[in-house]
This record gives sequence, structure tokens and C-alpha cells, in this order.
Amino acid sequence: MGLKDLILPGKTIGILGGGQLGRMMALAARQMGYKIAVLEKEKNSPCGQIADYEVIGDYRDLDKAEELARISDVVTYEFENISLETAKVIERMGKLPQGSLLLGITQHRGREKRAVESLGIKVAPYVLVDKPQDLFEGVTKIGLPAILKTCRGGYDGKGQWVIKGQDDYLKLGKELDFGQQYILEKMIPFTKELSIIVSRNAKGHVTTFPVTENIHQKGILHISIAPARVDKGVEEKAKAVGISLARGLNLVGTLAVEMFLTKDGEIFVNELAPRPHNSGHYTIEGCETSQFTQHIRTICNLPLGSTKLLKPAVMVNILGEDLEKLLLSLEKLGDGHLHLYGKGEARQGRKMGHLTFLGDTTEEALTKATNKIRIFL
Ligand code: ADP
Ligand code: MG
Repeated sequence: MGLKDLILPGKTIGILGGGQLGRMMALAARQMGYKIAVLEKEKNSPCGQIADYEVIGDYRDLDKAEELARISDVVTYEFENISLETAKVIERMGKLPQGSLLLGITQHRGREKRAVESLGIKVAPYVLVDKPQDLFEGVTKIGLPAILKTCRGGYDGKGQWVIKGQDDYLKLGKELDFGQQYILEKMIPFTKELSIIVSRNAKGHVTTFPVTENIHQKGILHISIAPARVDKGVEEKAKAVGISLARGLNLVGTLAVEMFLTKDGEIFVNELAPRPHNSGHYTIEGCETSQFTQHIRTICNLPLGSTKLLKPAVMVNILGEDLEKLLLSLEKLGDGHLHLYGKGEARQGRKMGHLTFLGDTTEEALTKATNKIRIFL
């Protein structure tokens, strides 16, 4: 690896988007001695609070994105819904090592499913829906229960409708805005939801973090447990899926892979995120290298760190509705690791922070977490 390919500490890392993922990337980068620039609509965003330079503007604003790129030596993004156009401009400036190809794939659920399938990896049966007729035909083809999702822009269960019976899809057929595309997926009767985070640098060095077990509430991640309580075979399979995707999609950066595990031990890929992921927050305390440090290493072309699990870990999200109670009972925090993202308004369902609990065993970490959840949430 030549020194010229490296982005060394002292250089500036630009982040498109100022949310908590940007903040935690920035914290990791600052620790290593990098400077941070961020593009976000408002001043003092979670990432803006700890950045050296704040560019204020919409991340879809090409001029602002160029401004960010000009003051940065390398640029990354903290979420996938930045405009592809913006990504391409920065890529042409030679400052987006992650490229725009994978971003383009993960911005559209249909394209993403095709890309996963093309690598011989299973996804839930699906059909693309452009008009009410497609929805009715789709239901006949894949059966019920099913789930309809917007192809673009959904997160935390937003832009999704569960379809259990005829009434549901007849109603949806009338109510939906067919100016956009949807995807209808068969509901997978999973026994567990798993995720794996894969990192890869431009030299092709790949690492995977431990397979994590995720529990959602109302479409939002509630708890992540690492290592996932699955047998060795499942763990190996999940890891192989992550590595095939990273190699097959020419990943540079971080890829989070959400999966469903069925009772027969089959794995279906649910969705991909081309960035650090909520289910990997436990790596900050739980692993030798965190997902955020690893991400910075990938985009700066540094050798990747060990992803060894130091201790079993359980991460619990803190949503807007939980914050006040948590703050009032903080004297009971014990050895929970508290992360708050510096967000202003504690809205319902908004991710305000998270807690990580470590244990000598997964059960111990889980017991600590559930005891605290009883107090805090
Ligand atoms: P988001 O972008 O909101 O995370 P997901 O596609 O991951 O969207 O869906 C959110 C959650 O909804 C999943 O974590 C899972 O619990 C449930 N879900 C989504 N698709 C399916 C499916 N095909 N079968 C079963 N559950 C699903
Ligand atoms: Mg998801």
C-alpha cells in the first residue's frame, strides 16, 4: 500500500448527513486525529456539534455537496438517501472511495433484491407494484400475509403496510399514491432477525463483525444481542452471505446486511445498508475495533482492525418517549454505557441514544439490559 493512497490523520473527512451515525463516525475519526466536516440542513446537528466545519444546506443541494467535498480530503455518507447525483459528482472529484454504484442499488428495494438474488442469495418472494392491478395480482402470486413497502426512502418501518386479508389490499389499492413504486414481499415467518456488518477497503481486505440478533418493536430496532444465539452453522452461513455480498457488490466501506432466519435454518436477506448500522452500535464497547473506526479505516485505506468480540454485548435503543424517564433515573445506570446523540426534540419513535451492556456471557448481558429496561423504558 503506497503512502499516497492513504488518507492520514490530520486530513479532513467530510460526512454527508449530520445524524447519529455521522456523529459516531466523527467521534471515531477525531480520536484518530482526523478533522471533520459535515453537510446538514441545520446547524448544531448531532454530527455538527462535534465537527470542525459545518456546511449548512440540503444534502441534495449539489453546490453544497461540492463545497463539502472541496474542504474535505475524503467524503463519506451516513445514510443512503443522499442524491445519487451528488454522490457521482464527489466520486468524479476522486473523493468518494465508496463510489456510487452500491449506493444506487441500496436506494431502491427492487434493485437491491435483484442484486442479492444475482449472487445466489435468497430474498423473500416479491413483486414490484406500479398500479393497483399489480398489487392484486401480486397478492395472488405470492400469497398472504405479505408486506408492501415503498421502494425508496423507507426506514424504521415507515412506508410499510402489512397485508393480511382482502380488505387490506383493496383499501391500499385505493389509498396509495401510485406516483411512486412499491414492492410487495411475502412475509417470512422468521424465528430470529439477524444482521452482519461487513467492512472492506479498496485493497479488498474484508472483515465481518459478529453476527447479531435483533429484536424490533413497531418496526424500530429495540435490542441487539451479540453474539446472536444461533448455532455455529447459522453463524457461518450468515458470515458467508455477508462476505459474498461484500465481494460481489465490490464494497468499499461498510455494508450492513439484515437477515431473517427461519426454523429450518434458512437465511433470507431482508435489506442492505451501505453504512454503519444501528445493530452494530454495541461494537463500540464490545469489539476490538468498532464499526465506526473500521468504517473510517476503510475510506482512508488504512489496514482494517480486528473485529473480535471482547465480551458479549446487548444494545438497547433509547427513543424519544423513553428519554425523560431515563434521565430521571440515571443514578441507576450502573455499568451501562450511555450514548446520547445530542438531538433537540425528543419526539415519539425518534432515536435519541442507546445503552450498551456487557457481560461475561450473553445471558448476563441480557439480564443486565432487561433489568435496566424495566427501570428506564
Ligand atoms: P426498514 O427500512 O424500515 O428497516 P425493513 O424492510 O427492514 O425496513 O422492515 C422493518 C421490519 O419489518 C423488519 O426488521 C422485520 O421485522 C419486518 N419485515 C419487513 N419485511 C418483512 C418480511 N418480508 N417478512 C417478515 N417481516 C418483515
Ligand atoms: Mg430494516
